[in-house]
Amino acid sequence: MATAAFLAIVGRLPAVAKVLVMLAIGAALMPASATAQGRTAPPAELKQITNDLYFFYEFAGSNAVFMVTDDGVLVIDTRTHPRPGQALLDMVRKVTDKPIKWVINSHFHGDHHFGNAPFKAAGATFVAQAETARLMQHVQAKEMARRIDGFKNQGLDPNEVKLVLPEVTFDNAMTIKLGGREVRLMYLGPGQQAGDTFVAFPHARALFTPGAFGKRSMPNMAFTPSVDSWVKLLEQVAAMDVDRILPAHGDVANRADVKELAAMLADEYATVKDAVAKGLSVDDAIKTLTFPQYKDWRNYNRLAGEIRALYELIQTGKRSYLD
Ligand SMILES: [Zn+2]
Repeated sequence: MATAAFLAIVGRLPAVAKVLVMLAIGAALMPASATAQGRTAPPAELKQITNDLYFFYEFAGSNAVFMVTDDGVLVIDTRTHPRPGQALLDMVRKVTDKPIKWVINSHFHGDHHFGNAPFKAAGATFVAQAETARLMQHVQAKEMARRIDGFKNQGLDPNEVKLVLPEVTFDNAMTIKLGGREVRLMYLGPGQQAGDTFVAFPHARALFTPGAFGKRSMPNMAFTPSVDSWVKLLEQVAAMDVDRILPAHGDVANRADVKELAAMLADEYATVKDAVAKGLSVDDAIKTLTFPQYKDWRNYNRLAGEIRALYELIQTGKRSYLD
């Protein structure tokens, strides 16, 4: 099909065509988990975005994307553990029996690559940005440590996690051609962390975003070397010519949502910087800076930790997690 004709058809689709709703993934793997805010998280679901692009959305966990072609499948991120990783692979298998050609790991956080092993067994080639590849190895023990409680709560055995590192790395950009499509991997500088990889699907006018963006999701501030460059990065993404944003966390979004996060980050950073400048201790800052305007955002319950992490960045310039 000619690209123009294809785009015309895509343009007529509803915002998100949901075809496969709530696949039975197994109650043990997908508890109707409550968020730390005490609300029940919506159940995980698989959304078909275009005829070849699928978005696995799990509010309480992490998302994944896969593209299905006649020549094979490309996957972005593999969830938090080999068992949910296998459940993701099972979802792919309900759509297609084509080989799993590529897995892209979008950043070093374990909730995006600890599910790699089943995809390795399925024969995929793994790719990541060079700094992501380095950090996956470098902070593996810390990434495991901060997930142990979550594994226990979900009945997942931490010993089943095996580090699967990328065989292919890139510095700034890489294009993967598969089944007549071009998939463009981009590193635009550090956002939430060094290595944050964006993936464009030009034929679908869609963009996958890594940890640097989540719709109405307060990001973890422990890894960024510069909030200013992160905000600039988001503004750059918000200006891209795409219709749909498929984030690593949170639901399908659009460019306005990216702009909204850029504004929130700038606001949060300026407010904490001001508190540091006024000589407020970190404990007093945590008591007084409650950011009530974001109380409905994902991860608002982690605010104290984020203020602490921003104090570290502003006062020392260090990111001790990455030592
Ligand atoms: Zn994550």
